Amino acid sequence: MIVAHTIAEVRRALAELRRKGQSIGLVPTMGALHAGHFSLVEQARSECDAVVVSIFVNPIQFGPNEDFSKYPRPIEADLAGCRQHGVAVAFNPSPKDMYPTERMTTVHVETLTTTLCGAHRPGHFDGVTTVVTKLFNIVQPDFAYFGQKDAQQALTLYRMVQDLDMPIEMRICPTVREASGLAMSSRNQYLSDTDREQALTLSRSLKLAAELIQCGEKSAESVVEQMRQLIRSNDLDDIDYISVVDPATMQPISQVDRPVLIALAVRVGPARLIDNILLDQAGNEITMNCLFRIWQHSVR
Ligand code: AMP
Repeated sequence: MIVAHTIAEVRRALAELRRKGQSIGLVPTMGALHAGHFSLVEQARSECDAVVVSIFVNPIQFGPNEDFSKYPRPIEADLAGCRQHGVAVAFNPSPKDMYPTERMTTVHVETLTTTLCGAHRPGHFDGVTTVVTKLFNIVQPDFAYFGQKDAQQALTLYRMVQDLDMPIEMRICPTVREASGLAMSSRNQYLSDTDREQALTLSRSLKLAAELIQCGEKSAESVVEQMRQLIRSNDLDDIDYISVVDPATMQPISQVDRPVLIALAVRVGPARLIDNILLDQAGNEITMNCLFRIWQHSVR
């Protein structure tokens, strides 16, 4: 595995792969890699000749009072994991290499970024779309892999690629969970045993939402209220949002009369955790790929 620390180094490594005619899959990450990240790597390996993993804690997607400085950076363990999973190139640049001068350009996606995490983390998605555009320009991958765990991010980037005609196949992979149901996240490292126990309520509340809709509940407000009650009953009061949105626009809807994304962000101990579930209008869980097929079908 080649470990590239600068843009020049990664470009050199990739030129060599391209010269050999290899297709390239990119998995952008912020490191502290876990099984969720490696599921993206495995998916990339099944479709591409060479997999590039970027490991970069992107300063411009963190707000001033967020966890940028304490975000975990276990780089040696991450590189070992990449080696084990057959990654061809690990790209681990420094902030100085990615942002050498004051930046005058920002990539901004409208509408999709105004709600959920976009409403609670001003500037966050501009940071994400800008860094991912830079990574796309640096690596020039044929395929790029993202997780549904960050559904708003995945759909925003999907839209960015469409709107800007970026020649990249986007793949959105399912959320990997611990056996308990807790969605894997680098931020789970912040949790104590008690926090972890409490955090289980998040995935349970998403399950509850699916069950309610399966039983015929159509009112988004009622679904949100019952989720809120379940979460509060486990002593979690710091809820950023619980929301039922149309995944095409990320705007809240009042009736479950189409596929819906139910998403939440809740503070558990020192961590702000997010999770979501994608449901068809009968309340059955669907994947993003399934959603894209439904959309394509309805356009025809
Ligand atoms: P991060 O390092 O948190 O920025 O995540 C890098 C990529 O891995 C993003 O596309 C995430 O959506 C994805 N990811 C993070 N956690 C999971 C998970 N539990 N299951 C699937 N993908 C994930």
